[in-house]
Amino acid sequence: ELTLDHVTKRFADGGGDIVAVDDVSADIDDGEFIVLVGPSGCGKSTTLRMIAGLESVTEGTITLDDQAINDRQPADRDIAMVFQSYALYPHMTVRENMSFGLEESTDMPDDEIDERVESAAGMMGIDRLLDRKPGELSGGQQQRVALGRAIVRDPAVFLMDEPLSNLDAKLRSQMRTELQRIQEDLGVTTVYVTHDQTEAMTMGDRIAILDDGRLQQVATPLEAYHEPANQFVAGFIGEPS
Ligand code: ATP
Ligand code: MG
Repeated sequence: ELTLDHVTKRFADGGGDIVAVDDVSADIDDGEFIVLVGPSGCGKSTTLRMIAGLESVTEGTITLDDQAINDRQPADRDIAMVFQSYALYPHMTVRENMSFGLEESTDMPDDEIDERVESAAGMMGIDRLLDRKPGELSGGQQQRVALGRAIVRDPAVFLMDEPLSNLDAKLRSQMRTELQRIQEDLGVTTVYVTHDQTEAMTMGDRIAILDDGRLQQVATPLEAYHEPANQFVAGFIGEPS
């Protein structure tokens, strides 16, 4: 279980402070796919970055399986994050991109790493691309490699920040279905950030709606649609994407 307990993030900004995330509390169940939605600047990426350990927490506690992880280094959190810009290493092959993290941060034997890379590549449908370099791949293929690289680590939690937003509409809807299937197969707890209502409504077991750093509602898509907690949620859910 991943828990945010009164989590706040303030950024110093000249005289005043920006409150990017304002007293957010949420419990995310094991194996759950939760979608964090809200308008640009509402604090989605900052929330994910705090969970990943890429950003410090100003106030509050983040716990994973009842252990506070606020002070743990990103590599010690058992959490993998996938970004919109996938940041593959251009000079490495796909195989090397996928195995690099495990080689660096674990003492896992090479043959086990190979096995994991091949199984993740199979899941993402990129097994025939393992010897290519990122520059020889399409954008969609690169995104698959980035997702495969996260799967290889077999983390307790997946964090995804608009992972499909660089893809065209057709590929995006195909990847949505695939991602859901893989997430279900792996049973990995997933926090998925998007500002796309369709993605939120179709992918999430539950959706968490954020506005101006504040959590407005955490509910199943149907509950949020039929029983919005307030005007903001009603307007946001109702808007065409
Ligand atoms: P988008 O949908 O555009 O990606 P977001 O919901 O991910 O937006 P965040 O990136 O979390 O929003 O930003 C939340 C707020 O915090 C914004 O007002 C942003 O300007 C501010 N912010 C984010 N990072 C920093 C930083 N390093 N320093 C100062 N302010 C920041
Ligand atoms: Mg963002």
